[in-house]
Amino acid sequence: MASKQINLLDFDCAALEAFFIELGEKPFRARQVLRWLHQRFCDDIDAMSDISRATREKLSAIAEIRAPRVLRDHTAADGARKWLFDVGGDNAVEAVYLPEDDRGTLCISTQAGCMMDCAFCSTGQQGFSRNLTTGEIVGQLWRVNRTLLAENTVTPWVEAGRAPITNVVLMGMGEPLANFKNVVAALKLFLSDHAYGLSRRRVTLSTSGLVPMIDMLREACPVALAVSLHAPDDTLRDQLIPLNRRHRLNELMAACRRYLERAPRDFITFEYLLLDRVNDSLQQAQELVALTRDVPCKFNLIPFNPFPEAPFRASSRERVRAFQQVLMQAGIVATIRKTRGEDIDAACGQLAGQVQNRVRYRLNQVMRRHDSRGGEEDCHP
Ligand code: SAH
Ligand code: SF4
Repeated sequence: MASKQINLLDFDCAALEAFFIELGEKPFRARQVLRWLHQRFCDDIDAMSDISRATREKLSAIAEIRAPRVLRDHTAADGARKWLFDVGGDNAVEAVYLPEDDRGTLCISTQAGCMMDCAFCSTGQQGFSRNLTTGEIVGQLWRVNRTLLAENTVTPWVEAGRAPITNVVLMGMGEPLANFKNVVAALKLFLSDHAYGLSRRRVTLSTSGLVPMIDMLREACPVALAVSLHAPDDTLRDQLIPLNRRHRLNELMAACRRYLERAPRDFITFEYLLLDRVNDSLQQAQELVALTRDVPCKFNLIPFNPFPEAPFRASSRERVRAFQQVLMQAGIVATIRKTRGEDIDAACGQLAGQVQNRVRYRLNQVMRRHDSRGGEEDCHP
């Protein structure tokens, strides 16, 4: 079938209503179709039995339901499960399912590769291919819910027959705020009562610190925010996260404070990767306390997950504990992230997927593009 056809998974609620109006249909049809798509995980327009045959025929002639195809599917010893999805053109992205006692979390990707080039990240080291479409982002959640339901996977945290994924984190491959438009449309579907109906607190977006887009997200769709900090000062952060050369830490802290005015939670989560003897000293922990003094926050300390040719080592358990203690003594909640799915390379920063036609975007190239577009911050290539 021509993949040039309209993909119904690309539409958020408002866009699908506009599409139905254009077709000469009533806008409430859009809400019916959304429920078929995202609550019953229907993949056949003709099966939408409360839509008239004439409308279904009209729709089938121009549209289809197209979620990324599964290339591989592995389950780790600890129950984490990783899917590799084909997104065409020899690109593939990954999503990771993390079942817990009281919830099912899916970590999804937003780009094939990433142009941010962070020194410690396997995705970043592969370069960037392209932004995922809304249908490809939402399609990961659609596909996993549908698969788990079809397999009758036991998920004690939801009623039988309901969608097993209760929490979504945008922490897979890519920088979500560099694919702003498509990510916001996907977020709206995650939140919509006609689609996944998740609360804002159960949807978390993680960013390396695209300051102007943090402000835009606050206006467009404020979900829970996690910020990858990884260093307490600009000199070190410049080396670890090249984007920091553009948006300094003081600007980032100010953006976090502004975000909190609209955020669903009253704190920002700071992710802090612990790299042996690079960013894990007690003095650096104290500097972090000072840096985040005016930002209500929690820290999530992430053990570094190595990948081939990684130029860093993970901090020892003792150093991680000592670092955590300094934060806790200053009254900051600091948790150590459980590493899951290591045996299938599904842990944070190990997602590599398959990125073709990759272009190694160096930060100054990206920034030149920003500058030549009058300061516009969307990193679309
Ligand atoms: N691009 C976004 C979201 C995807 S990365 C961001 O950077 O925030 C999700 C998280 O994994 C980030 O906090 C990132 O810094 C972290 N991460 C990257 N490489 C890692 C590695 N090798 N080990 C552990 N965490 C890593
Ligand atoms: Fe991109 Fe995040 Fe990896 Fe940095 S850590 S390269 S922003 S995916």
